[in-house]
Amino acid sequence: MISKKLIFFILLFFVSVQAFALPKVITTTSDLGAIVGEIGGNNFSVTSICDGTRDPHFLEAKPSYILAVSKADLVIANGLGLEVGWLPKLLTAARNPKVTENSSGYLEVGSAVKVLEIPEGPINRSQGDVHPEGNPHVTLDPIRLGEIALVIAEKLGKIVPKSAESFKKNALAFQLKLQEKTKDWQKRIAASGVKSVITHHKTLTYFFDRFGITNAGMLEPFPGVPPTAKHILSVIQNASKNNVKMILIENYFDSKIAEKAASQIPNILVASVPVAVSSKNKTSFDLFEELVATIESYKKEEKKLKEEKKAKDQV
Ligand SMILES: [Zn+2]
Repeated sequence: MISKKLIFFILLFFVSVQAFALPKVITTTSDLGAIVGEIGGNNFSVTSICDGTRDPHFLEAKPSYILAVSKADLVIANGLGLEVGWLPKLLTAARNPKVTENSSGYLEVGSAVKVLEIPEGPINRSQGDVHPEGNPHVTLDPIRLGEIALVIAEKLGKIVPKSAESFKKNALAFQLKLQEKTKDWQKRIAASGVKSVITHHKTLTYFFDRFGITNAGMLEPFPGVPPTAKHILSVIQNASKNNVKMILIENYFDSKIAEKAASQIPNILVASVPVAVSSKNKTSFDLFEELVATIESYKKEEKKLKEEKKAKDQV
């Protein structure tokens, strides 16, 4: 008689063989990886190259990424120039005809939604790393993220046609949940009283656009260019004029400069915020929830800030 142990090992063998056989999807960012997980269920093996705690503009084309792309069945990229510094190198080095640009195993999602900040007129190097196709950080708007999920579902359905309908259903449910949640997030942000914010880079443009917040300034003088003393001085002057309440620093940038600038601006709060799905914020809902909660926290901190200022003024 076959022992239970042997049956267990035979089963384990088949399960692992099946896991190996799953189509391999590589996403450039963790936000896109989270969507594939959300709508593709257990039908795919998903790897995200940028893990959500790093700046997606600047990554090295590491050998491990090249190996992963060389075995991929599908590569999903944000596009709009976000990965222009490293993805073309990665695709060339991986030599995988399935996933080269313009092949059916390559998908860019950014241009599927309405893009903001498309530059008018000629662009030159003195403006820093301006994205000629517009601001690429589209996944930070929950409504656009829902639209992107539908685009991804369609592509996943081409890879596993028998589950195409279920991917579409899952994407629609994901989109609906995001739309519902957005109403709640809009109310909470409106109640926070925060209408004007400074960031390090123009990462949160789409989030602010959705939630009625003005990005009153950036610590970097031009996209991808580190802050300078002269620029920070002008940011401080503008912040005082524009009633800026918070400096939100994308968590892969150092917040020391922001802390220093904030000490010159009355009643301003500095917070380091996540701007992508990560091991801490595993889903897009967790990510948006943390962003909203951070903005809401201003109200609680405001009293403390005012008291601190009063004490300082009395000295
Ligand atoms: Zn950017």
